[in-house]
Amino acid sequence: MLLKRFLKYVKIDTQSNDFSPTSPSTEKQWDLLNLLKSELDKLGVQNELTKNGRLYAFVQGDEALDAIGVCAHVDTAPDFSGTKVNPQIVENYNGKRIHLGESGRILDPKEYDVLNSLKGKTLITTDGTTLLGADDKAGVSIIMEVLEAVLKLKEDERRPMYILFTPDEEVGRGAEEFDTEKFKAKFAYTFDGSYPNIINIETFNAKAAEVKVIGKTIHPGSAKGIMVNAGSILADFITKLPSEMVPEKTEGYEGFNHLTDMQGNCELAVAHFILRNHNKAILTKQVQQFNEITLNLRRKYPNAKIELKIKDQYRNMIEIIDKQPECKNFIEGVFKKLDIEPQYEPVRGGTDGATFSFKGCPTPNLGTGSYNHHGPYEFAVLEEMEQLVRLGVEIFKK
Ligand SMILES: [Zn+2]
Repeated sequence: MLLKRFLKYVKIDTQSNDFSPTSPSTEKQWDLLNLLKSELDKLGVQNELTKNGRLYAFVQGDEALDAIGVCAHVDTAPDFSGTKVNPQIVENYNGKRIHLGESGRILDPKEYDVLNSLKGKTLITTDGTTLLGADDKAGVSIIMEVLEAVLKLKEDERRPMYILFTPDEEVGRGAEEFDTEKFKAKFAYTFDGSYPNIINIETFNAKAAEVKVIGKTIHPGSAKGIMVNAGSILADFITKLPSEMVPEKTEGYEGFNHLTDMQGNCELAVAHFILRNHNKAILTKQVQQFNEITLNLRRKYPNAKIELKIKDQYRNMIEIIDKQPECKNFIEGVFKKLDIEPQYEPVRGGTDGATFSFKGCPTPNLGTGSYNHHGPYEFAVLEEMEQLVRLGVEIFKK
């Protein structure tokens, strides 16, 4: 059953690691991958767990119909601990503040508006000391439940079904090694969002920038005309960027430049940024601005060495889905069969599906019925997860 399954998965620590070169980035992600593989084996489902931790599965259906895929990721975000997750179940939620265990943290409907619409529902929260990992174990659980229901249908009553579980989505590497030979779906859906009625077909276009300033250090008492302070020059660079175009001041379709980290001293200073925009042309302008600031500062500080490196990260999947809209029309039809009016919302981030789309399998994102991801206030709503299981089953019913 869904709740039992979900509680089992969230208790397995699968935090990924940005700085690890291995794949999966952490050994512990195998714990869930191996468990899922054994569950697929028990169900008699054809599957393959690759040496880099991608778990592919396939269920035969009516060959006359297009195969469709579903995907979720097994890792949890490096942002907050995923060790010893101790889920708390709030039945028949009364609409009031929820104390998260003994942690002193409070899930407050004044702060998290979505709670106001969830009276009477069953919530699964953390005890305040870890994240919950509903991102994306809610997605994994939904897919496994859908699979069990689909297996109860006769082969000629269902579509061919592909499943993919990836590691390392949270560190931007889940879609690496996506293999269309192992995943022959015409299109697919990730279950990796929040609201159960929302479809995401737009992600950011994403680039990363590194600014490096090499200065010259000398005793400050005899520095006149000689010292070149890399730290101050880097600070000058940062203040030349548009101050309103940052994550904390933008929403919806507004893009940003986000200073993710910086360190430095007089001799050497380095900063990293991520650049994000749904609009490709505006993202190009953001890159131009980085270039212009670099050129201007090279003129202003001729004795410093200023380097700028820009790297591509991912692209907005709308580019692909606009050209191949079948995945969008199909899922709209499925929602309507369940009498739900779907809504579209742009993702202020990327998804594995964005990369799958560019690799040949258009993959919009669907909800998981869970909220406040990546921190101790994360929670899931059982009834919404159940609704998404019904949606998933409907995808594969002939
Ligand atoms: Zn996720």
